[in-house]
Amino acid sequence: MSGHSGHRADPVARPIDVRWIHGSVSSKHNSDPELQVYWYDDDTVILRQNKAIDYEAPFLFLLFGERRAVLLDTGATESPMFLPVRAVVDGLIRTWLGRRSRTEGYELVVLHTHSHADHVAGDSQFLDRPDTVLVTADKETVWDFFGLSDDPGATRRFDLGGRTLQVLATPGHDAAAVTFYDPWTGILFTGDTLYRGRLYIVDWPAYSRSIDRLIEFCGTHPVTHILGCHIEMTRTPGVDYPVQTTYQPDEPPLEMTAQHLQAVRAALDAIGPRPALRAFDDFIIWPEDDD
Ligand SMILES: [Zn+2]
Repeated sequence: MSGHSGHRADPVARPIDVRWIHGSVSSKHNSDPELQVYWYDDDTVILRQNKAIDYEAPFLFLLFGERRAVLLDTGATESPMFLPVRAVVDGLIRTWLGRRSRTEGYELVVLHTHSHADHVAGDSQFLDRPDTVLVTADKETVWDFFGLSDDPGATRRFDLGGRTLQVLATPGHDAAAVTFYDPWTGILFTGDTLYRGRLYIVDWPAYSRSIDRLIEFCGTHPVTHILGCHIEMTRTPGVDYPVQTTYQPDEPPLEMTAQHLQAVRAALDAIGPRPALRAFDDFIIWPEDDD
């Protein structure tokens, strides 16, 4: 925020200058933190879960506004003993408030990119947190909360105070999947709809429409980075790490661009209307039954 208000120039893509924790040869001897913390800017934190706790190693995001913060996803692990997501988030909020000499009356809203277990497992740690709104990740709750139930094709807004997220329903990987756009940073948070990895698709037509919507959105909004929630590819085009691997020494970057959405579009077109598994340079299209 930094005291800004009113008109603001287009956001600039800041470099994401970090070596993410990426597991280790022996999970037992892993000495990385449970959650890696990276301040993208003064008001935006990217977190990554340690692969030794859960191979999914999802990314989480904490966005600060003047009135409230939003946490996108709560990690793949329920137990605060193994993944103290609440304690880490509490510490980050204390840090942010401390920089502004503020202490109380600040709200946390817990939201999700989608409903899969590796993105919601830490929810229970926030149930008894004061000044907290936990929006469970099921589609009905999410759509009601954002006002998408009556018009799933709408783009809704969620105000953090000086920072208003835009919210799009983007089903395909999961019926409850939503994509968040943050005009402050210009980041598009795509959850598991787009990331460098296996793009599991349970609803092929819905996924195709969601990709088209995101391409259209990127054409009309300044998007600096696209951030998904996992990294599963190696730096070798078309080659992923095995499922459940706990050591990924050769990871490509987390951040992607709108051009990758175009690449997904082209990939879907190349495969055609009948779902099929096929590897492309930066992702693998992976049809899956919804079970
Ligand atoms: Zn998922």
